[in-house]
Amino acid sequence: MFLGTAGSMPTAQRAPAALLVRRGGERLLFDCAEGTQRQLLRSSVGLVELREVFVTHFHADHVLGLPGMFKTFALRGRELPLEVYGPRGLVDLLGSLKRVVGKLTYELRLHELAPGDVLERDGYRLATFAVAHGVSALGWSLIESTRPGRFDVEAADALGVPDGPARGVLQRGEAVTLPDGLTVTADQVLGPPRSGRKLVITGDTAPAEGIVESAWGADVLVTEATFSEEERGRAHETMHQTAAQAADVARRANVGLLALTHLSNRYFGPEIAREAREIFAETVVPRDFDVIDMPFAERGSPHLVKGGALHRREPEAVSSAPE
Ligand SMILES: [Zn+2]
Ligand SMILES: [Zn+2]
Repeated sequence: MFLGTAGSMPTAQRAPAALLVRRGGERLLFDCAEGTQRQLLRSSVGLVELREVFVTHFHADHVLGLPGMFKTFALRGRELPLEVYGPRGLVDLLGSLKRVVGKLTYELRLHELAPGDVLERDGYRLATFAVAHGVSALGWSLIESTRPGRFDVEAADALGVPDGPARGVLQRGEAVTLPDGLTVTADQVLGPPRSGRKLVITGDTAPAEGIVESAWGADVLVTEATFSEEERGRAHETMHQTAAQAADVARRANVGLLALTHLSNRYFGPEIAREAREIFAETVVPRDFDVIDMPFAERGSPHLVKGGALHRREPEAVSSAPE
């Protein structure tokens, strides 16, 4: 969910960087620019009690929303700890914000990571990687674990596996012994393992070989296109990239869908999309409150849902754990 798609400063249409990843019942916020709380309030999600915030780097257009959001959570009497992950320098930054934020009602847990560090999660991992922005920074990739293959009901019937718990055991990849003494193994009733999804978020960066590697085969790559080719020199000086350069990274990394964000205020979107699509056709340039749906591969391809985060408010407790 794109909460902010502008680079460096807000425009009337676009807020600066913030991206919410929804996976099952989880809400992971990547970057928190000025105004992010209000963007959340305007969205279908609302300003929920986020458990985790991930920061790509400490430029103002990525972190100025943190103190305000911390404060709002405290005013609401939050008790749940808030985990903040970011590159080296996170503790220092939050230390200097202390005077602004004041006393909190909950614990702020800070985690400084170095490129290459990995957070292991239930069903996925969050891997960090180096980007090229001239400052302490992290790219993030969310990589789901491989899922067991599809359960073959006919095969199970033929082998005489009864309905009920025995099938659940097989679905988890374990063997079962039937009352008649026959042992059935998981590979007899499961199809080939199915790959999980991969989402890569670079934050601000110049083009870099390491990003091609980290983004390899991603279903969705969210990266920046601050400029177009006519400002390639400026992109180089400021360690950002052009739409064409971002598209070239996507093409070489063989990604499914490229989403370009962090647009300089002189661009409206269509010109950035046109430039990128000449090199990589599967490119979208989301606006604030657009959503990218990322189904499992067997159910379709990732696609942009315009305004998908506006209007209807989703039920608070969504627990559709991915299968
Ligand atoms: Zn930025
Ligand atoms: Zn930056």
